[in-house]
Amino acid sequence: MKIIKNYIGGQLISPVLDEYLDNVDPSRGIVYSKIPDSTTDDVEKAVQAAEKAYEGWSNTPKEARGAIMIKIADIIESRMNEFAAAESLDNGKPVKLAMQVDIPRAVSNLKFFATAIQHFASESHYMEGLGVNYTTRKPIGIVGCISPWNLPLYLFTWKIAPALAAGNCVVAKPSEVTPMTAFMLSEVCKEAGLPEGVLNIVHGLGHKVGDAITKHPKIKAISFTGGTATGKTIATIAAPMFKKLSLELGGKNPNIIFADCDFEDALSTTMRSSFANQGQICLCGSRIFIERPIYEKFKAAFVAKTAESKVSYPSDPEAKLGAVVSKPHMEKVLSYIELAKEEGGTVLTGGEQVKLEGEYANGYYLRPTIIEGLTFDCRTNQEEIFGPVVTITPFDTEEEVLMMANSTEYGLASTVWTSNLKRAHRVADHLHTGIVWVNAWLVRDLRTPFGGMKSSGVGREGGFEALRFFTEAKNVFIKS
Ligand code: NAD
Repeated sequence: MKIIKNYIGGQLISPVLDEYLDNVDPSRGIVYSKIPDSTTDDVEKAVQAAEKAYEGWSNTPKEARGAIMIKIADIIESRMNEFAAAESLDNGKPVKLAMQVDIPRAVSNLKFFATAIQHFASESHYMEGLGVNYTTRKPIGIVGCISPWNLPLYLFTWKIAPALAAGNCVVAKPSEVTPMTAFMLSEVCKEAGLPEGVLNIVHGLGHKVGDAITKHPKIKAISFTGGTATGKTIATIAAPMFKKLSLELGGKNPNIIFADCDFEDALSTTMRSSFANQGQICLCGSRIFIERPIYEKFKAAFVAKTAESKVSYPSDPEAKLGAVVSKPHMEKVLSYIELAKEEGGTVLTGGEQVKLEGEYANGYYLRPTIIEGLTFDCRTNQEEIFGPVVTITPFDTEEEVLMMANSTEYGLASTVWTSNLKRAHRVADHLHTGIVWVNAWLVRDLRTPFGGMKSSGVGREGGFEALRFFTEAKNVFIKS
């Protein structure tokens, strides 16, 4: 059984207390590796290692920092199959998805920020007759990065890459539910020659390791992606310490389909935006609003396609959906389906667990589920489910659908389907979300600001926004 180790001060080491947690393969429902159950002492060691490394790393020319990051990316790329298989085993997602999305994106994150930092300029402001201001943007120091289980290496590198590129030293914690590819990344960092202590990866539970990172006085900024409740806990601790905070939290995203849309495009993309990664992407559109003239036609086609979607073990090349991430998560999703029925909803397709055969008989598989007949303000339509469950609701006017779309506490992303250009602009303008896709979903340019409004988060990641977050601005005025 593979025993995962912490990566501290450039070494792969056991946790101080030598205690471990089980790491479960969700496709089979069995324990397949062990992960450090680290504590405050391990975080302390990581902070000390980062402190020691900071002087050297922050003064390393950005070209050299970028070159090491590119080397890390190249090694991951050369081991693509191995990383994709590991991600799939840890998370339950189809191997094909990890090959097409997760690992290539992790590679892109590293390459993108390794090069973006070379173009990151700071400002100067000339004052006529008085002098000039110039602004420096230096690394913050030691920063904390905490990430979730749904896109493990993808989101882990999305935080670590800009932090390292900007010259910070990092104490990072991947999700305890999916630690494997972060562990593999630590092996790659050693191989690529990343100086000791620049990146430290401490494995373990949120309320132990995550909490210790959040509370550590020498960690000056926290970049967190995860649930809204956890984000609130982190903010409560970190805000009075005046730490910089970037919080990427939950979502309950609307997918608005007008009658004048390209029907086939809207249908096939809605299949992905509803059920990709078993619906466990913060950007999935879980509330689908369909304009009444095409409601019945869209519903029939969507239900038929969904019922045909193959739920299977992750290495099945035909699998459209793999396993959801854990037993408690599967139970949570099933409890929301029960809630939807209690609230008067009708399950049009799905709504149940899928039992596979043989070695996969104890895996956590769910049939993709479509529910109709619910009010826009019921709990099912307001709370994040984060699984392969969507609701469909008809609408008659633009005002009505905007009111329903904007009715939740969340404001991460939305999707709009229409061929009317003016309407596309108007609706995009009135949606209370940080991201709007028109006639598309999950098209990502890493230069764009990424993040949510309302309870979906604070701050923006991506491009120079991330580099600004991971640097401290200082303005210097010189009298002429
Ligand atoms: P989670 O909040 O339970 O955990 C996220 C991370 O925080 C994990 O590493 C966990 O160990 C850690 N953590 C837990 N308690 C902590 C504490 N008290 N202090 C510090 N760290 C703590 O979230 P999850 O279940 O892993 O992920 C699913 C959630 O993430 C969903 O709500 C989803 O919408 C959200 N998410 C958001 C985005 C985004 O970009 N906005 C992207 C992906 C996922």
